[in-house]
This record gives sequence, C-alpha cells and structure tokens, in this order.
Amino acid sequence: MRTILVAEDEPQIAGLVRDYLEHAGFAVLVAGDGAAALATFRARRPDALVLDLGLPRVDGLDVVRAIRRDSTVPIVILTARGDETDRVTGLELGADDYVVKPFSPKELVARVRAVLRRVDAPPPSDERITAGDLELDLARRRVTAAGRVVALTPTEFELLATLAREPGRVWTRAQLLDAVRGFSLETYERAIDGHIRNLRRKLEPGSGTPRYVRTVHGVGYALADGEA
Ligand code: CA
Repeated sequence: MRTILVAEDEPQIAGLVRDYLEHAGFAVLVAGDGAAALATFRARRPDALVLDLGLPRVDGLDVVRAIRRDSTVPIVILTARGDETDRVTGLELGADDYVVKPFSPKELVARVRAVLRRVDAPPPSDERITAGDLELDLARRRVTAAGRVVALTPTEFELLATLAREPGRVWTRAQLLDAVRGFSLETYERAIDGHIRNLRRKLEPGSGTPRYVRTVHGVGYALADGEA
C-alpha cells in the first residue's frame, strides 16, 4: 500500500484529505506543522507528500527545500487562491504539482495518483534514450550525464525524456506542460522555467552556458542536438 504524508495545519482539511486518500486505497500520515512534516518524512519515507504551504513552525516552502536536498519524492503543494508567488516558488523548488484552496478532494486524489503514475509508469518497452552524452533508462528512470548519475524528480525526468526523444526540436512551455502532465491543466508556463532551471543545475552544476537544454528565445526549450 502506498503511504501519503499530508502536512496541513487545519484539522478539518487534513481530516477531509485523509478520508479521501484512505478511501482511494492509500495509507495516510498526517502532520500538523512543518517540523512534524519533516520529522515524519524522515522517519517513515512516504511515497508522496501533500503539503500545505502555509504551515506553522517550518514554512511549507522550507519543507520543500529541505526535502529536495536529498529526495525526489513526489510533492503536491496546497496553496491559497491568489498566492501565486508561493505557488511558483514551490514549483521552482521542485514540487511536482499544486492544488489551489478551496479544492475538490477528488481532484486532489487525482493529482496524487498522477504524480505517483509518473514515478512508476511502466515504460512502453525496455527503452533507452541516448542524446549526446545523456543516457536515460526509462525502465529504471535513471539518468546519466557524461557517465554521472543524476537524481531527478518525476517531473524533471519526464521533462528531460520529452526533450531527449527529439533532440533539436523546439518545444513551447505550453507543449512541455502538456507533455509532463499527460493532460492539460490550468496552464502554468512559468513552472516549466523552474523545472528547467532545476534540471540544468543537476545536469551541469557550475557550468555557465547550458550545454544540454537550450533556451530558444521567444519560444521555449530544446535539447541540444550535439552540434553545440
Ligand atoms: Ca495552513
């Protein structure tokens, strides 16, 4: 059974989310503040997190930051309507998806299922993608860049796999959003910029000009086709 950690300080919302997730077949852990969320995460290693950004003690964004230092666990953030800055920051820090309050619990369950599907989606075949010195093992969801293993979140992996399937092809942010989510949601193109920034940081730490993922000004992104 998959375990989901729900970090939410409003007991009513936490209870509602727990009920819906349990009904959907998940085991649920609840933490009422950010410090408890981090402690529970470290002790129990859940399969995914539903994380309210407005948490006492340790802020939700700091929880994302702390978890992303050593884990690629799927994270769905809960944000207040109008809190666009926090939402974008959360995604830039590596959260995989977001739901805006007030939300439908059914929709939240669907988002949790979707991020988990990205983790263990069975690949169509024993497919490997090679693009220059990048190697993606789709079955194991493993990436190496010039022989170095790079740990990516599910969203970053999908993004890189999409780009790497057609090196040189230019993708708009909207196309990339569709590709990584598998279904079209509220378009949130700046989130793609955040994921691309994280991808670059992991693929080529310390380098100035991005070698792998190129910005195509005014359009979007493309994986370098090896001629750079
Ligand atoms: Ca809150």
